Amino acid sequence: MNERREELAGRLARLREELAEVAGRAGRKPGDVTLVAVSKYHPASDVRDLSLAGQVDFGENYVQEALAKQEALADLKLRWHFIGGLQSNKAKYVAGKFGLVHSVDSSKLAQALHKKATSLGLVQDILLQVNIAGEAQKSGITEEELPRLAEEAMAADGLRLVGLMTMPPFFDEPERARPVFARLRELRDGLEGRLGVRLPHLSMGMTGDFVPAVEEGATLVRIGTRIFGSRPPKG
Ligand SMILES: *Cc1c(COP(=O)(O)O)cnc(C)c1O
Repeated sequence: MNERREELAGRLARLREELAEVAGRAGRKPGDVTLVAVSKYHPASDVRDLSLAGQVDFGENYVQEALAKQEALADLKLRWHFIGGLQSNKAKYVAGKFGLVHSVDSSKLAQALHKKATSLGLVQDILLQVNIAGEAQKSGITEEELPRLAEEAMAADGLRLVGLMTMPPFFDEPERARPVFARLRELRDGLEGRLGVRLPHLSMGMTGDFVPAVEEGATLVRIGTRIFGSRPPKG
């Protein structure tokens, strides 16, 4: 049997066990946390191998790379997540092609996704990306901008706002990311009250910090390196 396939299947199985264990310790059910395997820079063959091992949700950061993989894997039943920075002029390639867009961070992008989704006669599920730590180089809206963009997204009938996403700064110590995750949950809870809707999803937690993220309520964890190994240089 294919060596790479076995390696990927083994890592996936161990990660799933750990996720279930962390969820259990936090009083949550394993089914409450969806593992999004972040396949950016990794070949479509890796995604196929993981699909054979039962993985359904995959995350991609780059439009062209993602669409090429979708085409190569069109025979599989996969759920694609767009998690990368997205320019509004590329929204037309994304709407309808990804089950969930995690990284909506401007009114312009929200409107572009809404417009394309409407023209396709569908509703695009989205999350709003919030830059909690306020790092200048990270994308995401500020906490102050969140209520307005959330209201705008709610009013757009081509969009369905289902929650929030964040990406904390890189910390050597995962515990340091915990306050960021806790804050995202608070912001979500506040919006639910304010807007009178349910926002079920919190997309937070990567290879280095998924444990505190799950403990703080993540419903989607975006994990690449732990499954695929380190990323090859982009080529
Ligand atoms: C690359 C990436 C991930 C996965 O990171 P790992 O550390 O490899 O698990 C998660 N989220 C986003 C937004 C990413 O760009």
